[in-house]
Amino acid sequence: MNIPKDIHTHRLPSLPGTAIVNVAPDAFSPCKGEWYSIGIHPWHVTPTLASEGASCPPSLRHPQVLAVGEAGLDKLAAAPMTLQVELFRRQARWAEEARKPLLIHLVKATDELLKVKRELCPSVPWIIHGFRGKAALAEEYLRHGFHLSFGEKYQEAALCTMPACRLFIETDESEIAVRELYVRAARVRGISPEELEETVRRNVRTLFFRP
Ligand SMILES: [Zn+2]
Repeated sequence: MNIPKDIHTHRLPSLPGTAIVNVAPDAFSPCKGEWYSIGIHPWHVTPTLASEGASCPPSLRHPQVLAVGEAGLDKLAAAPMTLQVELFRRQARWAEEARKPLLIHLVKATDELLKVKRELCPSVPWIIHGFRGKAALAEEYLRHGFHLSFGEKYQEAALCTMPACRLFIETDESEIAVRELYVRAARVRGISPEELEETVRRNVRTLFFRP
């Protein structure tokens, strides 16, 4: 069994099982040896979707599905924030039911996100993916218990401020190979790529492969 080193992408990895591939609930058709996250992206939120059944899709319990998401809140998305919050809250509940981490897409909606987190007091980890904020914002999220995932673009000071146990690496939409992203991030943190891979591997085991 491969432990994924890329926790968020939209493409199948070149080596099966080395990434968590994000798909929409209706597009889930698992390939052997791959890992997935299933969720509704805030860009795809529509009033019909928000009014549909609130129960947890059975696919979320599939053993190859490691996380719920990406779900999130995005001030630049077309859907009104109230609708986005409704669907995000629903998916956060699914994550609780399925006992799987929640992968979060967040754009300019920190207050709304923290409000939902306070309301729900989730027991599963919440991971903000593609984190590009400043170090001070990273520290705020860390105080609130979030994990953060870094891709191709980020503030180096924010990456440096991360405690090893709260850090992930992802390719998302990037064309750059995940190995190269590890090399770059390791250089920023002043460690070897191997050490960073070992750190993230430990975090992936702890969060996504909980017994
Ligand atoms: Zn994504």
